[in-house]
Amino acid sequence: MTGYERGRLLYKLSDLLEQHNDEIAAIETLDNGKPYHIARIVNALSVKYLRSQAGWADKISGQTIRVDGPSHAFTLLEPIGVVGQILPWNFPTYMFITKLACALTCGNTVVVKPAEQTPLSALFCAHLISEAGIPAGVVNVIPGYGPTAGAAIGRHMDIDKLVFTGSTEVGRLLMVASAKSNLKSLTLELGGKSPLIIFDDANLDEAVAVADSGLFFNMGQVCTASSRIYVQEGIYNEFLEKAVERARQKVIGDPFTPGVDHGPQVDQAQFEKIMHYIALGKEEGAKLMVGGKRHGSKGMFVEPTIFADVKDDMSILQDEIFGPVMCVSKFKTVEEVIERANGTRYGLAAGVMTKDIDVANQVTRALKAGTLWINMYNIIDPSLPFGGYKMSGFGRENGIEGLKGYMQTKSVMTKLVSPSW
Ligand code: NAD
Repeated sequence: MTGYERGRLLYKLSDLLEQHNDEIAAIETLDNGKPYHIARIVNALSVKYLRSQAGWADKISGQTIRVDGPSHAFTLLEPIGVVGQILPWNFPTYMFITKLACALTCGNTVVVKPAEQTPLSALFCAHLISEAGIPAGVVNVIPGYGPTAGAAIGRHMDIDKLVFTGSTEVGRLLMVASAKSNLKSLTLELGGKSPLIIFDDANLDEAVAVADSGLFFNMGQVCTASSRIYVQEGIYNEFLEKAVERARQKVIGDPFTPGVDHGPQVDQAQFEKIMHYIALGKEEGAKLMVGGKRHGSKGMFVEPTIFADVKDDMSILQDEIFGPVMCVSKFKTVEEVIERANGTRYGLAAGVMTKDIDVANQVTRALKAGTLWINMYNIIDPSLPFGGYKMSGFGRENGIEGLKGYMQTKSVMTKLVSPSW
């Protein structure tokens, strides 16, 4: 199929996804627990990603390269072939659509395994994919468990590339599977423990709001969540006071109820993991400022929780909790906070809040993170590459950079009879 035709089908799919947003959002809320109005917003964002990438479908081209000698040389960008995609449960539709957007724009076919907790929206979207006229066999949705269906994709000899979003542990297993099978190339989007650094001169109310949504959005189940908040000593106490007040005001409950902004965690395993870390935080001596308990007696609701005076070596500051647990630490100097912010095995994202451009620049360059936000947090765009440093993974998704991960480059040389250009 030509690039133009692929783009046309992807635009058609975008329209269908948009038309069915209410249903898809309802499925997402049922499956995942995120508030319905948030599911609608995130789905609309996924459609924007699809349209943005679809625009590249007929514009991808290689280069003509001047080489030494009487040859005409150029590169061809080709699809990799069959791409396996293993998805997490935190943003099921967004993950499905945005990964599909990159793969299909470049002319690949995909075998997608949604997370076992949240397979429904991908299955629903598969109907729309067929309705859009995308030929049978191009998109294959295979729900199943990780160690069976996921692992089968990892070791399959006919899958040429694997894109995975999820935990660092499973990312490591998939690298081993690739090494032991056909050396399929990998893009890994793994966990994070992202720092948000708030300096004394920041607008305090804004900083509190940014920290709050940076961590509590989607009940903390976001790979880029600002789960380490470093606050400079001059505003530390005031920040905590306001952050605690804001956390108390969250409306927890049935995610279908209008006005609710905090739903349940995705399942019992995640609920228990989070409660375990809260207990560990208390044990290790962090100061529990608010929350820390289950909300109600039914469902997997965890109160928005804030720990203060969290030390760098505590497990709650080193491990990805993936829940509504904010860890706040005090710092004095720029140099100190840079070193501490870089002090985990992760490097997915980071944020800095300050009015001082020199400080912002210094921190931006010093932090090892794939995305850096200044005076904002968790804002994403289809044109911007996304991915991690260190054990948060490698490879980039989205934007033109993201498309490169779904293509092979072939170098072609032709002998010229005339020796000159
Ligand atoms: P996970 O990494 O176990 O699961 C993610 C996906 O990988 C799922 O589709 C799962 O079925 C699959 N999978 C699991 N084991 C596999 C295997 N052996 N081979 C192939 N595929 C396999 O994540 P989880 O158990 O759902 O959550 C555990 C932790 O992972 C979370 O608490 C969180 O810290 C992290 N996580 C991160 C993200 C992210 O966006 N970076 C998303 C989800 C979870």
